[in-house]
Amino acid sequence: MDLISSLQEVTKLSHLYYSRQWMFATAGNLSTRDNSSHTEFWITASGKHKGELKDTDFVCVSVKDGTLLSAKEGLKPSAETSIHQVLYSQMPNVGSCLHVHTLESNLLEFGVGKEEGYREIPIPPIEIIKAFGIWDEKPSLTMPVFYNHTDVPTIANQIKRYFTTVGIPKVPFLLIEGHGPTVWGKSIAEANKHLEAVHFLLQVMARRV
Ligand SMILES: [Zn+2]
Repeated sequence: MDLISSLQEVTKLSHLYYSRQWMFATAGNLSTRDNSSHTEFWITASGKHKGELKDTDFVCVSVKDGTLLSAKEGLKPSAETSIHQVLYSQMPNVGSCLHVHTLESNLLEFGVGKEEGYREIPIPPIEIIKAFGIWDEKPSLTMPVFYNHTDVPTIANQIKRYFTTVGIPKVPFLLIEGHGPTVWGKSIAEANKHLEAVHFLLQVMARRV
């Protein structure tokens, strides 16, 4: 998919997620890797209303170090760009990362400590996990849940440390406690599928508490 089509696709998802109440006002951030260069990704600009996002409201960032490579005048990268940069740099096959703030992801409480930084939380073995490509009948899966530091680059560093010491999570997402999930996929369509599955999973988990 060419870059313009990719940005149009992500813009459509922004409107859809806003209508689902996953991205109130300016919350959340969506990005896609530039398939032609592979070393750049485009992410929603900071402060843009997600229900009214345009396909020109994106800025271009380096996968290698998060440097801002190009932006229309007045556009700044999303505050959470550093998290996307870690995910693209750690997973060369990933083509899109999506981060939203859903109600259920904020209702779930795990008590992850500031010092510990993250914790592995068990995932119930329900049917929807097949959307993550996991077909075992009763898998014992976990998801990494990170502490919501005010300073976003601190969260990004914690995530990078996780990827380089523990490895890539078996499930294509992570959760920041009291904040929201971030999912990834090879394509925008796959990342969207993962996000819908994660949303359902977190709804189930929130209602079981
Ligand atoms: Zn966020």
